[in-house]
Amino acid sequence: MNPCPCGHLGDPRQRCHCTPAQIQRYQSRLSGPLLDRIDLQVEVPALPATQLTDRTPGESSAAVRERVLAARERQTARGALNAHLPGPALEAACALSGEERHWFADVLDRLNLSARAYHRVLRVALTLADLAGESRVSRGHLMEAIGYRQLDRMLNANGAPPG
Ligand SMILES: [Zn+2]
Repeated sequence: MNPCPCGHLGDPRQRCHCTPAQIQRYQSRLSGPLLDRIDLQVEVPALPATQLTDRTPGESSAAVRERVLAARERQTARGALNAHLPGPALEAACALSGEERHWFADVLDRLNLSARAYHRVLRVALTLADLAGESRVSRGHLMEAIGYRQLDRMLNANGAPPG
């Protein structure tokens, strides 16, 4: 989705001409319950032309594929893919320490994320651990997973009513 009706909100090179009311109306069309179901919400800023034509190769698709297959194997060995793991099994697989659990609850509370978002973030964090070949979820995985919920955080900050 665009950040606003004209699409330039937050773009340093093009001015957004939308009014705050227009932006609010546009963003509130995405309801909280719908947003909760979107695991990865990432801002993708417009790229300068020089970066679009940069030919420096990134990680190859074949290498990424290997990593994804290995992550799926770890999940299958646990009994289910992370997307289908029931709550208690998910929490057991994450194996958070007491300290991390406390920290995580505190962060979710401060970000005003829903109870549904709690398990969604855990699922993404566990997948990040799987992709890294690690046997438990660390605070770094939690932080990255929370980082992928930008719209929740933005809309909560804008005072959009919870769904
Ligand atoms: Zn705009």
